Amino acid sequence: MGTRPGKVFLVGAGPGAPDLLTVRAARLLAAADIVFHDALVHPETLALAERAEKVAVGKRCGRNSTVQVFINKRLVDAARKHAVVVRLKGGDPMLFGRAQEEIDALRAAGIEFEVVPGITAALAAAADLGVSLTRRGVSRNVAFATPRVGDGQAASDWAEPLATADTGAIYMGAGEAAAIAATLIARGKPASLPVVAVENASLPGSRRWLTTLGDLPALAEEAFNGPVMLLFGEVFATALAAADANRVRARFLETAQAHLLRVAV
Ligand code: SAH
Repeated sequence: MGTRPGKVFLVGAGPGAPDLLTVRAARLLAAADIVFHDALVHPETLALAERAEKVAVGKRCGRNSTVQVFINKRLVDAARKHAVVVRLKGGDPMLFGRAQEEIDALRAAGIEFEVVPGITAALAAAADLGVSLTRRGVSRNVAFATPRVGDGQAASDWAEPLATADTGAIYMGAGEAAAIAATLIARGKPASLPVVAVENASLPGSRRWLTTLGDLPALAEEAFNGPVMLLFGEVFATALAAADANRVRARFLETAQAHLLRVAV
């Protein structure tokens, strides 16, 4: 029709709680003509896009790269029809969200785009725990990593940055807890290193498990109800105990595995 194409906004929806959304994201959702969203985006967040057509493009954990190519194409097509296209992604778009593939496709098609950051899951988990990921004298760096390799991709060495990090945040790793533990111990991390698993960070009913790297394989016995973040580091040794002492209703529940402590709040 010869009209100028619209603009695509890659927007971070935050970790789950609908009010952990930036003001800019909320404004763009209200203005959106069409929203392509991940499966885990909260219904209340989607409801902000009152006038938009909503399209679920959730794929589970990068299983299928043809799905990604299809999403890229749909974004380009939508920008040729609509003024404001929102691609709403869990957490922050620029971490483990395949944003670069979408950005590359938009650039190649000459479509204008903008990225709106969101709160990434690791930071939401740290907030829930009341534990700073950095701490003077204990941790001066944080590694964000995933053992997950997309199909058709060469496996990079995911473990090395974690093995040298003071604090680690592992995305998409709960299903591979045993392999993660074995690999990090083989790379020199002590079996006594504190590990925390946080399920559904920022959401009601969030659960967490406190354990050590040596006992982490027991996590495989757990049935999860939502996404899980694995955090490790000495920061959790003292800080977590202090945080839990402050929680009036904190209880420690022992699971079938004696060494895996689930903290129910
Ligand atoms: N872009 C997202 C990450 C996508 S990868 C972000 O910045 O957060 C998906 C992984 O993120 C999940 O497998 C899990 O490890 C983690 N995750 C996402 N939401 C989470 C939540 N509410 N609680 C715990 N982990 C979460």
